Amino acid sequence: MMTPKALVAGNWKMNGLKASTQEITRLNDLINTSGAKCDVLICPPFTLISTFAGLGAENVAIGAQDCHMNVSGAHTGDISAEMVVELGCKHIIVGHSERRADHGENNDVVNAKAAAAQNEGATAIICVGETIEEREAGKALDVVISQVKASIPQSATASNTIIAYEPVWAIGSGHTPTVMDVQEMHKAVREVLMSRFGASGAGIKILYGGSVKASNAPELMSVPNVNGALVGGASLKADDFYGIISAYDEIG
Ligand code: PEP
Repeated sequence: MMTPKALVAGNWKMNGLKASTQEITRLNDLINTSGAKCDVLICPPFTLISTFAGLGAENVAIGAQDCHMNVSGAHTGDISAEMVVELGCKHIIVGHSERRADHGENNDVVNAKAAAAQNEGATAIICVGETIEEREAGKALDVVISQVKASIPQSATASNTIIAYEPVWAIGSGHTPTVMDVQEMHKAVREVLMSRFGASGAGIKILYGGSVKASNAPELMSVPNVNGALVGGASLKADDFYGIISAYDEIG
C-alpha cells in the first residue's frame, strides 16, 4: 500500500509581522543543516505570503490559510485562490474550525473553497473535527465522517487533496486525544477516502492537528494513517517547529 510522504504544516493564524521573516530563514537553515524527513509548509497571514515566498527558502513551502470561493469580484476584504497561487502558494487551508466557528463556514462553503483552490492548481488542506460536546455525546466519528464527505468537492483528486483532522477541543488547549482515538478516526477517514478515490485514496495525506508539540509528536505521528501534522502555536518559532519535524527522524 502506498504511504504518502509526511507533511508538517504550520498555521500561523493572525500572527506575524515582517520581523518574523527570521523564523523562516532559521527554519530553512535548520533543515539545511540537520535535514527533514518530511515536507514542510508554513501558512502565514496573507500579508506575509509575498515576503516569505520571496525568500527562496527551498526547504519551506509557503501556503495560505483560506481563500474565497470565487475567482474575483465584489468581495471586500477577501482573497482568492488565484491571488495566493500567483504569489507561490501550492497549498491552501480551508475549513479550519476557527473559520467554521467565527465566520459561519459550513461544509458547502468549505467544499466550494476547496474547489476554488483546486481549480487554481493548489492542494486544498480540508480541516474537519468534532467539538467536545460532540465527542462526549459519542458522535465524533459520525460528525467527522460527514464533514469529510460533504467538504470534498467534485474537483478533488488524490493529488490535490489533504485532510486535516483537528478535534476542536484539542486546538490551542494543550489537550490531545488518546492514540487509540486518533487511530480510530484516521482509519475511518481513510476508509472514506478509499471508497471515494479507490486505491489512490491510500496516497492522500491525513494530518492530525491539535496541540502538537515536539514532546508528543513522535507518538502522534507514529499512529497508522497519520501522515503529518497541522500545527498552530508550536509553528511560530522555528526551533519549536523543527522539534516536531524531527519526530520523523525517530519514526524513520
Ligand atoms: C490549529 O489551529 O490548526 C492548531 C492545530 O493549533 P494548535 O497547534 O495551537 O493546537
